[in-house]
Amino acid sequence: MAKFFISYSYKLIIFFIMSYLNLMSILGKLKPWNPSIPYEVFSLNISSKLSTNSDDIILSSKDFGKIIQEMFPAAVLYPSNINDIIDLIKFSYDLSVPFHVAARGHGHSIRGQAMAHNGVIVEMNSLNNNNDNDNNNNNNNNNENCGIKVSWDSELGFYADVGGEQLWIAVLRTTLEYGLAPISWTDYLYLTVGGTLSNAGISGQTFRHGPQITNVHEMDVITGKGDFVTCSKDKNSELFFAVLGGLGQFGIITRARIVLDKAPTRVKWVRLLYDDFSKFTKDQEHLISIDGLDYVEGSLMLEQSSLSNWRSSFFPPSNQTKIASFLSQNKTMYCLEMVKYYDDHTASTIDEELKKLVKGLNYLAGFMFKKDATFVEFLNRVRSGELELHSKGMWAVPHPWLNLFVPKSSIMDFNVAVFVDIILRQNKATGPILVYPTYRKKWDDRMSAVIPEEDTFYCVGLLHSARGYDECKILDNQNEEILKYCDNTGLNIKQYLPHYKTKEDWIKHFGKKWNIFQQRKNQFDPKKILSPGQRIFN
Ligand code: FAD
Repeated sequence: MAKFFISYSYKLIIFFIMSYLNLMSILGKLKPWNPSIPYEVFSLNISSKLSTNSDDIILSSKDFGKIIQEMFPAAVLYPSNINDIIDLIKFSYDLSVPFHVAARGHGHSIRGQAMAHNGVIVEMNSLNNNNDNDNNNNNNNNNENCGIKVSWDSELGFYADVGGEQLWIAVLRTTLEYGLAPISWTDYLYLTVGGTLSNAGISGQTFRHGPQITNVHEMDVITGKGDFVTCSKDKNSELFFAVLGGLGQFGIITRARIVLDKAPTRVKWVRLLYDDFSKFTKDQEHLISIDGLDYVEGSLMLEQSSLSNWRSSFFPPSNQTKIASFLSQNKTMYCLEMVKYYDDHTASTIDEELKKLVKGLNYLAGFMFKKDATFVEFLNRVRSGELELHSKGMWAVPHPWLNLFVPKSSIMDFNVAVFVDIILRQNKATGPILVYPTYRKKWDDRMSAVIPEEDTFYCVGLLHSARGYDECKILDNQNEEILKYCDNTGLNIKQYLPHYKTKEDWIKHFGKKWNIFQQRKNQFDPKKILSPGQRIFN
């Protein structure tokens, strides 16, 4: 009898929920119920945090790329603690036909990598609304979100325990209060810790400190089975290495323990211009080989592109005229960008040190430009350009980006075939083009991230902004042409922030890592629930 009543009341609850959902749907507030996730999800404790409101669905199915459209989730979860995510994944895992779940960090992917068509998006930022930063006990109780907490111990030195949902700008601001900062960065800081650790996290510091994934001591991860696991190089190491650079395939990072060091206060920021690609790359390679600089990057400057782009405004108007006139004759220049950190103790010697560093470099005479900036101004250099584009409505445009790792032995051929023969000749590029070298030895091959098999390789970023979908298509075709060329000529490049359409392409991308990647997927997410937007297993 009791059994009958429990089963009857359960059905009654579902009936009322369904009636409510249908009524709201008729009123236009909800998307029509999507049958790919079962109604029983609303009998869970997290039901009040699940939304099927069409505004929420649309918002969570957008990303920075603005290329992938109409990949709508069935619902959006706004977790207030880690248990909410565990409950959702466990519920899906226990179903005979599970639904997909994707963590959405800041949605700064290019091609729908954080989307989950007909599944559930977990808006990680929602954990941020429930942080208790004064609470120091973050490891044992999943109801207490990690936030950002700075600590020290004799083995690790200074480190920060950081929620996967945290933006790097927040990590910077909090750690600076202690005079500390992470050592490896991305160019842009409004990305989440979980999102960049799922890729690699690269910038001009990578040659020296490795990508962000190699500067993590430990993580808390919720696997595709809904298990909450603390992992490090020594503890549950298989999961640790899988998740770093793992494209969200093995678990949702809820906490990462990040390496910290004493923060400098200021930087000397230098740009040197070249008219010769070979001299430019030789000097870059030299600068990363000597001990002295904290950041080395570089970019192509094309006649048609603005000298101060959103990545950072650097040149004052007086310099711009001089550079523009050189560019109008030569069509292309190469800009080597380097930075040396300093503080009060080194302020009196920094200029002398810098002089020594640039001595013997082959830049164009008269084309060295210097800037003195605070550490934060430098690290957060992309923000002002972003806000300007926002105000002009030009940030929310399609971004058909292509990011590649090019082995050093291929970079000259890449220059001739891609930069000169495709990009310059076609004259379609509409954004910054980054080129800078880094070292393989600073990466950890046990991690999922894939890089070329060469000691030195270049990070190349074609960061296009398209004025509409027609231009986006044209630039995407150009990207395809570049990839095809690299493939046909065996340049052995690897895509960063990879995107492929077929499983064969993914297998080729991972190369000798494919077997382990697949094994780890079977171990940690056997029902292929997580991050379907990467389109590796789905
Ligand atoms: P999302 O786009 O939300 O998610 C990316 C992937 O990670 C998805 O598959 C998602 O499901 C998964 N994911 C998200 N959170 C978690 C989590 N907590 N645990 C597990 N998986 C998760 N990259 C660099 O390396 N260097 C740069 O300098 C750089 N600059 C950029 C500048 C701009 C303007 C933009 C738009 C991107 C830049 N990127 C850069 C790329 C960026 O690192 C990736 O796009 C990253 O994925 C974005 O982070 P996000 O927080 O928005 O992640």
